[in-house]
Formats: sequence, C-alpha cells, structure tokens
Amino acid sequence: MNVVWFKRDLRVSDHAPLTSATQSNPTLALYILEPLLWREKDLSARHYAFLQESLLDLQSQLKKLNFRLLIKVGHAEEIFTELHHNLKITAVFSHQETWNDWTYQRDKRVSKLFKALSIPWHEFQHNGVVRKLVSRDGWAKQWHHYMTAPAIAMPERQRSLDINIDSDNLPSPTQLGLSNETCQAPQAGGRHFGLALLDSFFETRGKFYTKEMSSPVTAYESCSRLSTYLAFGSISLREVYQLAQARKVAIYDQMPPGSPWRSSARSFLSRLRWHCHFIQKLEDEPTIELKNLHPAIDGLREGQFNWAHFEAWKEGRTGYPFIDACMRALRATGWINFRMRAMLVSFSSNHLWLHWREPSLHLAQLFLDYEPGIHYSQMQMQSGATGINAIRIYNPIKQSIDQDPEGIFIKTWVPELATLSTAHIHTPWLAQNPPKYYPAPIVDEATARREANERLYSIRRSKNFQSLSSKIVKKHASRKKTFKTSKTKKLHSDAAGKQIELF
Ligand SMILES: Cc1cc2nc3c(=O)[nH]c(=O)nc-3n(C[C@H](O)[C@H](O)[C@H](O)COP(=O)(O)OP(=O)(O)OC[C@H]3O[C@@H](n4cnc5c(N)ncnc54)[C@H](O)[C@@H]3O)c2cc1C
Repeated sequence: MNVVWFKRDLRVSDHAPLTSATQSNPTLALYILEPLLWREKDLSARHYAFLQESLLDLQSQLKKLNFRLLIKVGHAEEIFTELHHNLKITAVFSHQETWNDWTYQRDKRVSKLFKALSIPWHEFQHNGVVRKLVSRDGWAKQWHHYMTAPAIAMPERQRSLDINIDSDNLPSPTQLGLSNETCQAPQAGGRHFGLALLDSFFETRGKFYTKEMSSPVTAYESCSRLSTYLAFGSISLREVYQLAQARKVAIYDQMPPGSPWRSSARSFLSRLRWHCHFIQKLEDEPTIELKNLHPAIDGLREGQFNWAHFEAWKEGRTGYPFIDACMRALRATGWINFRMRAMLVSFSSNHLWLHWREPSLHLAQLFLDYEPGIHYSQMQMQSGATGINAIRIYNPIKQSIDQDPEGIFIKTWVPELATLSTAHIHTPWLAQNPPKYYPAPIVDEATARREANERLYSIRRSKNFQSLSSKIVKKHASRKKTFKTSKTKKLHSDAAGKQIELF
C-alpha cells in the first residue's frame, strides 16, 4: 500500500504525490498532527483553527474521489513504524517541505527511519522551490518552466480500501499548549474560500491593487488575501499563476494601455515569483530562521533587548498611533499588508533596537499566513541583517500621514484616539490636551532613527563587509536580465558581471 503524507499541501488538485501514488498501488491519505510541532514558539491557536477547517475540507475533497483521510496524532516516526507494521507500506509520497527548523529536523529523522525500514520516500517539488539548487543562475527560468507546465491531473476515483485503523481525535488547542486566541475576524480554512478570493480579486477588488496595496485603509480589500491559502497549500501557486496569467492576457486584450488592471496583473504576477524566491533562500540556507544572514551583523543588537519596549510593541502601546493601529489590527484579523509589516519590523529592529528573532516569533503567531521562508527572509531584510539590501528605516509618522491621512485606520483600531482632530491624530503628544489613556511615545522617533542609521552604516564600512556581502549576493539574490533602477530596488553586478536584483 502507498501512503500519501499530506503536509502543507491540503488539496487534491495539482498534487503530484497523490496522483503518482495512485498509479502503482492502493493509496492511503495520511495527515499527522504533531503535538511537539504545535508547541514551537512560532505557532498559535489561530493557525490551528485554520488547519482544522482545512482538514475538514480536504477530507471532503478526498471523499469525492473515494479516498479515506487517516488522521493520526503523535510523532511521525512512531506513526509510520506502526502503520508499516500493520499495513506494510510500499512507498511514501509527499511534497518537499521547506518549513521551520522543527520540520526540517523531523524530516531528517523520518528519512533515516524510511531507510532503515526500506520504505522508498518519493518527494516532489512543491511550487517553484528547487531542492539542492546548485546556483541561482537560471532559477527564474526553472520557476517559469514549472509554473507554465500543465497542472497535475486529479487522480481517478479509487476503489475502497479495506483497512481497520481509526483516525485519532484532534486535541483541543489547550491540550496542545496553545494560548487563548485574540483573533476576532480570521480567514476561514478551505479551498473554496481561496478560490472565491481569487475570483473576486480579478473580477473587482484588484482593479487598483498597485495603487492601493500600500495603505491598510484600502489593502484589506484591494490585495488578493490569498497568502493563507497558499501557506496551507489549499491552492497551489501554479494554479494561481495560471489563472492570473490567463487573466493578464484577457486584460491586455480588452483593456486600453494605462488601464489600472494592466499594472495590477503585472504586479500580482511578479509577487507570485517573489513568494518562491524567498522560500528558496530558506531552502538553501535553513539557518536564516535562527541566525543573521550576514555575519558582520552578529553582536550588533544582541545583549541589549529591552523587554518593556518589546511588550509595548506587542500590545500596540508604543505611543505611535499608526504602529499601534497596525499591531492591533493584525492581532484582531491575522493579516496586515506588506508595507505595514515592514514598518512594524523596522520600528522594532531600528527604533527599539530589538534583535529580530523574538519579534519574528510574535509576528509568526499573529500572521495567519505564516510562511517561514518568506517570513524570516523579510524579518532579516527589514532589520538590515542580510547586509545586502538597502538600509530602509520607515518613519512611522510619515507613513501615517502618507497611508492614513485622515486617521481613519488609526481611529478604528486605537479608539482612545477617536476624538482627536486630524491635525493631531498622527502625533497625539503634540495636542494641547493629549489623550489620557494613550501612552506617550516610548522613544523619540528622530533620535532613534538617526542612531540606528549610524550603527547600521558603520557596520557596512567595516573591513570584510563587502567581500562577505558578495558571497551572499551570489548565493541568494535574484538574477534579472535587464537593469531597472528605482528608489526601492538596488541592482548590482556580481563578479561575473551578471545583473542581480537585491530583493
Ligand atoms: C516582515 C514581513 C514578514 C512577512 N511574512 C510573511 C509570511 O509569513 N507569509 C507570507 O505569505 N508573506 C509574508 N510577507 C510578505 C507579504 O507581506 C505577504 O505575502 C502579503 O502581505 C500577503 O497578502 P496577499 O495574499 O493579499 O498578497 P498579494 O499582494 O495579493 O500578493 C499575492 C501573493 O504574492 C506573494 N507575495 C506578496 N508579497 C510578497 C513579498 N513581499 N514576498 C514574498 N511573497 C509575496 C504572497 O504569496 C501573496 O499571497 C511578509 C512581509 C514582511 C515585510
């Protein structure tokens, strides 16, 4: 009997392991709920709720094809050993997983076990991430090749399996040690919700995507909001890419040059590539989750962690209304747009001078779309820890004025400020009567930004910084055929004169 091990790929369509497994033997679909994984500091009750809904949905997708989904709770090694004892597993099929360090270590142990039991383990590429990548040269071409290849056909309806093993009951969040949930309006798990978002994005919501993605006032509606469904694998990236590409062709056919739809389609498609580009970094260098990418950054923030500042940042009580509104919105909804994520991290890493690791765990728990490869790469980028990206420290007051000029978003999430005039909503401490129940700023913005800038730039001037940076660029930066210059992208040439985009 073949076993398909479902991980972060909770769907039946475009699922190479499932379709391949059914071609040789009767196939059992298996999901393992691993309590030890759920005790890791990056996971939370909101992820668990989404997972449970997604598993129910997967169960019904599989049922239509007459598969049974066996759900077991425990250690993967023990569960496979027992299954092999009872069912004699012929082979295990799964997607390659590029996730957190815990799953990486678990996969190494499971691989050893399979070797010891002589069970072949067929792992298939997931999305555009390439295992054992030799060089970033040509990666974009490989990505494109994968995304444009036909999606994997769904398996045919199966004959019923005669096995006498029951699924386990899923533990409660408390049994897993997950703390009480504060997410009031999370996205719901299930493929149909993801597909509906994709539809509504290309029907209406995405028209002003490029212009409206940066402000949290508009981004909740104008961004696709697909990230959670991609993170749990309810939809494959290839499915999204192919639909978006078809929409782009239709848009270019039907909409005149200058139509906002044209730039929306382009921006959206490039972000799908970024998705894999960032996960590829973690695949190539798993320590990105734990250590600064650039060794020259080591020691810069260590040993100076101000826990009171960290708590204020987590609670949305820094005294900077826009920072606090973003954190509180994120806590309540499980999502915030890219620019605000970057600003929150820039504030904790630069203004508060907190090492990115603790904040990364807090944000991982809050982001329903938590995807380690994107998350840790971005955490490091926004903290200046990669050493290869432009240093960018967001001024939260400027962002507030630019992205929420009327203070609508602030007033929604920081009700203590609801009666403040627009003139003072971004800087309440300057009001004649500052609000009583809202804290004064915990640091002086301009001083903190200047000091952080100086510290980061002084490292960049240090001996060996450039030669180490070149190595990092060679290994991790994306290659582009043409040079484009913009304020937000820095383009360099590597030693071989190839053009490299540093995102
Ligand atoms: C500090 C920080 C942490 C982040 N952590 C995560 C994370 O854990 N999981 C996650 O999916 N994204 C993360 N992002 C990237 C980005 O903010 C989200 O992908 C995006 O906001 C998701 O919303 P959406 O689906 O509406 O995106 P859209 O704007 O509609 O984009 C479509 C898809 O493209 C991909 N994408 C978009 N922007 C990026 C980006 N900058 N980098 C990589 N892929 C991108 C996502 O898969 C997204 O679903 C992080 C960004 C920052 C600055």
